[in-house]
Amino acid sequence: MTTQELLAHSSRYIMNTYRRFPIVLVRGEGPWVWDSEGKEYLDFVAGIAVCSLGHSHPAVTAAIRKQAETLTHVSNLYHIEPQIRVAECLVEHSFADKAFFCNSGAEANEAAIKLARKYGNEMMDGNRYEIITMENSFHGRTLTTVTATGQKKFQLGFEPLPEGFRYVPFNDIAAVEKAITEKTCAVMVEPIQAEGGILVPDDDYLRRLRNLCDDRGILLIFDEVQVGMGRTGTLFAYEQSGIQPDIMTLAKALGNGFPVGAMLATDAAAAAFVPGNHASTFGGNPLGMAAAMATLDTILTGGVLDNCKAVGAYFFDRLRELKGAHDIITDVRGRGLIVGVELSIPGDAIVSMAMENGVLINCTNGNILRFVPPLIITRDHVDRVIEVLDEVMRLT
Ligand SMILES: *Cc1c(COP(=O)(O)O)cnc(C)c1O
Repeated sequence: MTTQELLAHSSRYIMNTYRRFPIVLVRGEGPWVWDSEGKEYLDFVAGIAVCSLGHSHPAVTAAIRKQAETLTHVSNLYHIEPQIRVAECLVEHSFADKAFFCNSGAEANEAAIKLARKYGNEMMDGNRYEIITMENSFHGRTLTTVTATGQKKFQLGFEPLPEGFRYVPFNDIAAVEKAITEKTCAVMVEPIQAEGGILVPDDDYLRRLRNLCDDRGILLIFDEVQVGMGRTGTLFAYEQSGIQPDIMTLAKALGNGFPVGAMLATDAAAAAFVPGNHASTFGGNPLGMAAAMATLDTILTGGVLDNCKAVGAYFFDRLRELKGAHDIITDVRGRGLIVGVELSIPGDAIVSMAMENGVLINCTNGNILRFVPPLIITRDHVDRVIEVLDEVMRLT
């Protein structure tokens, strides 16, 4: 099929849930992707913070190939060696004692919400099932995770929504304190709000949240679906806060493009689940776990985190320079290689022009350019993106 035919068939046969750019991407390597016309792009979207080791990373590709030739799926009726290895690795490198596997971020959050409710209803004083989440947050698109998401625009039309969620402003401890009732079982928060516009809370926010949860005997859940797996320069974003959650969710970069999700918890929280309480047919299957294991091994041994910190700092410096040259940039923020550039104008024209110039970037919340490139990029890649942004912003 020609590209024009592909685009025509796409709108004819695929449900209308996305506004897609009019290109078809067919191949990727490292931070580069190519479309069906052979045009090359430097990819600072990375499948929305997914392909953190770059496209077609040789270690991940080899692991998937080898596992596909050995065993792809057997279900969780049996023990699965690659799943045991990934669980051990995640537990040994985090606060957690136990892992549950699924296939996406929404599913990981759904599992976290179910665990917190089970814990609240059965292991706390009285029946506790309410979860406090943040305004402007993003936790997924299932009916329950879209309800946990503190943004009306994602919920409209899907009423009635499940009960049991209360929303408070992000980065506001007093608001959380006021929202806690005798029904509250948990507080759920992204350590950095990603879809919401790369919002980094005050340095002591997560610590104060931890203290508050400890005082009131409620669980603290971190959604690290986007900011986990090295994105901020440490394997998990919470490591930089000096405190630990009780439950944490992961997905996006966990399999470097293979769909896998995980929900990690302390033994105390995990004890609320017993056989029959929660399950996933595909979750933790050998193929996904082989991808996750290769991804974890590479992040932990390949200098990826150091590169993320160093190139992230360089990217920040260059973006601050760019801000000095362009009035439309009102803020540059983020951590490691999750970076937001707030504009005084809508961002879509800049995203489209950057694409024409061979650079893929994303815009979230209308006017915030979001950069979530592979963590293996170099200063040269940053320079190229800055050069294109500078050119494009001159034209706006
Ligand atoms: C992307 C994202 C999700 C949802 O993940 P899916 O895999 O799309 O279901 C949940 N939480 C956060 C913070 C995310 O960035």
